Amino acid sequence: MPTCLYVVIPCYNEEEALPITAEKIAEKMNRLQAQGIINDQSRVLLVNDGSKDKTWEIIKSLYESNSLFAGLDLTRNRGHQNALLAGLMTAKDHCDVSISMDADLQDDINAIDDMLAKYSAGADIVYGVRKQRTTDTFFKRFTARFYYKILKLMGANIVYDHADYRLMSRRALEGLAEFREVNLFLRGIVPMIGYPTAITYYDRSERVAGESKYPLRKMLSFAIEGITSLSTQPIKWITRLGFFVFLVSIGMLVYSVVQYFSGNTTAGWASLIVSIWAVGGLILLAIGVIGEYIGKIYLESKARPRFLIKEFLLRDEPDSGLDTPEENSRNL
Ligand code: UDP
Ligand code: MG
Repeated sequence: MPTCLYVVIPCYNEEEALPITAEKIAEKMNRLQAQGIINDQSRVLLVNDGSKDKTWEIIKSLYESNSLFAGLDLTRNRGHQNALLAGLMTAKDHCDVSISMDADLQDDINAIDDMLAKYSAGADIVYGVRKQRTTDTFFKRFTARFYYKILKLMGANIVYDHADYRLMSRRALEGLAEFREVNLFLRGIVPMIGYPTAITYYDRSERVAGESKYPLRKMLSFAIEGITSLSTQPIKWITRLGFFVFLVSIGMLVYSVVQYFSGNTTAGWASLIVSIWAVGGLILLAIGVIGEYIGKIYLESKARPRFLIKEFLLRDEPDSGLDTPEENSRNL
């Protein structure tokens, strides 16, 4: 039996890329429907993450002209991860299987066939993994490699070179819904769900249009988010560092006592000043890292909603000619 597929695409200021992406993905979906792989209840769910440009207008007109498209409008910009979660949690109640991808077609949509094949073969989660990173700049490639290494070292279980292009079955989505953390790093959480997984390799290409919505500043905060939401290693390292510094200071104490008895008391000024700075710096660093975690606890304890939906556009039936979009658009 053909499955009900929801392709979930978060969109932030994507007015340039969206029309191109929509056309390509519609072609793909029609082909999959014609092949009897997916049913006619399958949808492309476009999530508008509080865009400042015409993205939502484009989504609305796509929805009005083609029942394949569904739209979800968030009340404001909540970032890629939350927008994606909003889409997935909405798709969960309608689909058998979801595939998440970016709006810029960097993820090769031809990998969808392989993902669906692996899903029918029994996988609940299929990770899209990049074959090479030739389209990325050297800087991005290098920092990404380094970052994956650090995450591994800290004991976080993530899939190498996998971004957010992945298939998740309905029960995997239901599993994901049980993770209620506000500080969201999907790549780190999904492997914790369990269930059989598989990998599809694909070539990542250039963005079709528009600019990256991840400037260096956002990338860095995303990287820190990844580490602090998945691992408590930094706190442990600081404890060890503190212990080490304590040992060093005992050594220093012995050294100064020896110096005192040999009559060189004023000679200690340099080492004294150096250690004041070193220890002061370490303390500040330690407080900073601990502060990061306390900030996280603060946010988690408030358990604020991760996203709020302003409007949800979905037509239940494929074009029957009877429905007008207005009658069937549901406001949540
Ligand atoms: N995105 C989003 N909210 C944001 C930033 C980005 O929904 O605040 C979406 C964006 O529209 C795109 C995806 O997240 O579909 C990935 O962003 P982008 O392609 O700019 O990131 P890059 O590929 O450059 O890392
Ligand atoms: Mg991109």
